[in-house]
Amino acid sequence: MTVLPPLMLDPEVLRIATTLEDAGYETWCVGGALRDRLLGDDASDIDLATAATPDQVLRLFRRTVPVGIRFGTVGVLDQRSHLHEVTTFRKDVSTDGRHAVVEFGVSLEEDLARRDFTVNAMAYHPLREEWQDPLGGQEDIARRLIRAVGDPARRFEEDHLRILRAIRFAARFDFAIEPATWSAARARAERLKDLSAERVREEWVKGLGSCRDIGRLVRLWHECGAAAVWLPELVPADAVPSGEPPVRDPVMLTAALATDPAGMLQRLRASNREIDRAAHIAAGPAAPADTDERTVRRWLAAVDTVAADLASIAEYRVGRRPGWWEVAMTILERGDPVRRQDLAVDGRDLMTVGISPGPSIGKVIDSLLDQVLDDPRLNSRERLLGLAAAWNDERH
Ligand code: ATP
Ligand code: MG
Repeated sequence: MTVLPPLMLDPEVLRIATTLEDAGYETWCVGGALRDRLLGDDASDIDLATAATPDQVLRLFRRTVPVGIRFGTVGVLDQRSHLHEVTTFRKDVSTDGRHAVVEFGVSLEEDLARRDFTVNAMAYHPLREEWQDPLGGQEDIARRLIRAVGDPARRFEEDHLRILRAIRFAARFDFAIEPATWSAARARAERLKDLSAERVREEWVKGLGSCRDIGRLVRLWHECGAAAVWLPELVPADAVPSGEPPVRDPVMLTAALATDPAGMLQRLRASNREIDRAAHIAAGPAAPADTDERTVRRWLAAVDTVAADLASIAEYRVGRRPGWWEVAMTILERGDPVRRQDLAVDGRDLMTVGISPGPSIGKVIDSLLDQVLDDPRLNSRERLLGLAAAWNDERH
């Protein structure tokens, strides 16, 4: 095994670690940021683990935020008000597959052993520039493997979310999942139903945002049995477009990847706004029937707020921007009226020319929009009021 390199650390992290060490508390850098750095990505924030209890951490620093005191995590704010997470060495004493009760006063080794995967279970001493890797994380990074720490069956039973985390990390780094870890995960997929929708949604959304290849992410959800439990609407992996979508928006991507995206997001307890958006995307029409301006304007009117989502999905599916999007952009940039509120008149204006309040107003507005979609030049107050008056005369 190669000797692990010293890391370039944020001076603020060094300062916090020094304060803790000077007070007599052993303090190490831990967690996913070390994994990321060994993979050449320096962007993530470094978490610190310390022998100091949360109370002791709170007393040592002037500006703190109790981000997760119950689990031992204190946020320490630096001079730029950037938050650094400092967590007391801990182990999980009891679990029900979802929630953990934690105990402090344990060693670094025990703290590393309670972590989910070997690649997430390394430690680095920021002052001594020394690595601790008792579980072989470095080797698994070199082999590109996600491997549970300890007995995978037990670790997944303690917390079934780890099954979804294994999938997410494998897809994010394009790592394989070590066979015993993967078979333990698959054997317990049924138990994923005990998780809260919020935690599952977070994994799905983070997975979509971070995976190297969306097809692989979808394949792993299916192969493990997680899709059957939580995302039955998910398309098969070989139906996933092979290219990169123009944006990694989770609602747009869910709509592109699910037969009933609104139903799926409902099960995942997404916000009503997101569920609505997914339903609108699914309702389509997915694209205008033709590329002439009239047709594209009518399509923009029909799909309203989800036009850009549908364009992203079309681009994702065929691997290039659809020809009609250029036409749509021209229409939108020019400001052609495509919605009721774009019309040069409103309901009150219509009453001034004798349209009676009530359902007639809506009918006239729809009829005016219909005409304006064919010919945007009609969208002036005088012409629309004229058209409305004529409509009214026809009916009296
Ligand atoms: P990300 O880049 O997604 O934040 P991460 O590795 O930092 O990746 P976090 O969820 O932020 O993941 O958790 C930080 C660390 O805490 C992990 O690296 C892992 O050591 C540990 N951890 C997090 N969740 C679990 C879990 N469910 N079971 C065991 N250990 C966990
Ligand atoms: Mg993290």
